[in-house]
Amino acid sequence: MQIQSMHFKARAGQKLADERLQQTLKKFSTKFVGARASAITELDDFEATRDAAVERRMRAIENLDVWLATFEKEATRRGATVLYAETAEQASKLVVEIAKKHDVKKVIKSKSMVSEEMALNKALEAAGVTPVETDLGEYILQINDNEPPSHIIAPVIHKDKEEVADLFAKVHNKPRLTDIHEMTREAREVLRPHFLSADMGVTGGNFIVAESGSVAVVTNEGNEGMCTIMPPKVHVVVTGIEKVLPTLSDLATVMRLLPRSATGQSISNYFSLLTGPRASDEQDGPEHMYFVLVDAGRTGLIGTEFQEMLRCIRCGACMNHCPVYSKIGGHAYGWVYPGPMGSVLTPSYIGVDKAMDLPQASTLCGECHVVCPVKIPLPDLLRKLREKQFEKGLRPGFEYLAFGIWSFVAQRPALYRIAMRVAARALSAMGGTRRMISKLPMAGGWTDYRDMPAPSGKTFRELYRERKRS
Ligand code: SF4
Repeated sequence: MQIQSMHFKARAGQKLADERLQQTLKKFSTKFVGARASAITELDDFEATRDAAVERRMRAIENLDVWLATFEKEATRRGATVLYAETAEQASKLVVEIAKKHDVKKVIKSKSMVSEEMALNKALEAAGVTPVETDLGEYILQINDNEPPSHIIAPVIHKDKEEVADLFAKVHNKPRLTDIHEMTREAREVLRPHFLSADMGVTGGNFIVAESGSVAVVTNEGNEGMCTIMPPKVHVVVTGIEKVLPTLSDLATVMRLLPRSATGQSISNYFSLLTGPRASDEQDGPEHMYFVLVDAGRTGLIGTEFQEMLRCIRCGACMNHCPVYSKIGGHAYGWVYPGPMGSVLTPSYIGVDKAMDLPQASTLCGECHVVCPVKIPLPDLLRKLREKQFEKGLRPGFEYLAFGIWSFVAQRPALYRIAMRVAARALSAMGGTRRMISKLPMAGGWTDYRDMPAPSGKTFRELYRERKRS
């Protein structure tokens, strides 16, 4: 996937002007928010479960090498092959090599954000292997010119039913349907022969479990089972190294939070815990099972102030509740991970200098921290990224000048009082009789799309003194 994170502002502007997208986003974001709010009330011990999940995720991350070694030992003991990739490109190469080794012509895939990081479909196609996405949302994107997902759990959230109906009629070359059930049935009819004829299945892994060498895969469509249990003789799991959990009990704890935080479900429709290839006395399952565990920037976060980001369980709650994401959708962020988690992950993985606007793409309202099931302090991390950019000299010159002046004035109380008084009077005068400011010199971003209410003309100190006197 091409990195477009440097064009956030321009892309956000385009998305805001897209009325159809605005309507679609409004419908979906309120749906997820409401569903989560009611799902968490089912747990009497929701806060305690969150604390336990934080503790268990951090136990894994703080000793990542130990738990990965345990996972490798247990998975290998059960017949799987565990491979490591330092970069996303290496990971793609490994999957292509596995495909070649087993003479694979067609790969069926269930949804995996790590495979988006790896640009896996492109790599497979270049090697003469046909990848077929089987998650309905991902399938829609694939037949629409390999469009990237715009949400980590609802990849096609930016499209309405009518758009999908047009696309199906065009690509499937069938009469246009508008009933969602009929459309889904049509997609199943198209996908079924692929399930039956594929040689290899690729899935992500929501978690891998060290004590049993298993992978846990969560879906709502059951396609993960079709990708791993039906004909494919090879199953490849691609996932990030940080997804390891020490025990099955840890998995049970985080699974109480994941579907509730993601889609507001008590449990997802399908949940597979897959351990090793098919044994001689088993009827289902692949003959060969591989794990490709991807680093691609993750170890760079260990031991740093951004380490907490690694405990993310990819539920998407932070983006569902984010006032910025819910206005612009995921494509504006320009890489695999959108919303608040993406604004931290993208600069952390690809470099702060390659995602200049993302740490600024937040109101810092704090809602993402409030809803994050594993309590990642996203606003704090965004602020730290801003500091990093500032310290590295990456911000525009006027910011340094402005903060330099601010710092000088703020350290001199008498000067600060005078400056505030002048600013309050000036801003009040700019409001005119309408009491609204429609253009702010040197801070046009605040007034480009709406007017700013003019302040009263007095500083807080002046108002406070007046009230005290009265
Ligand atoms: S940062 Fe938290 S809320 Fe956002 S996707 Fe990760 S776990 Fe979910």
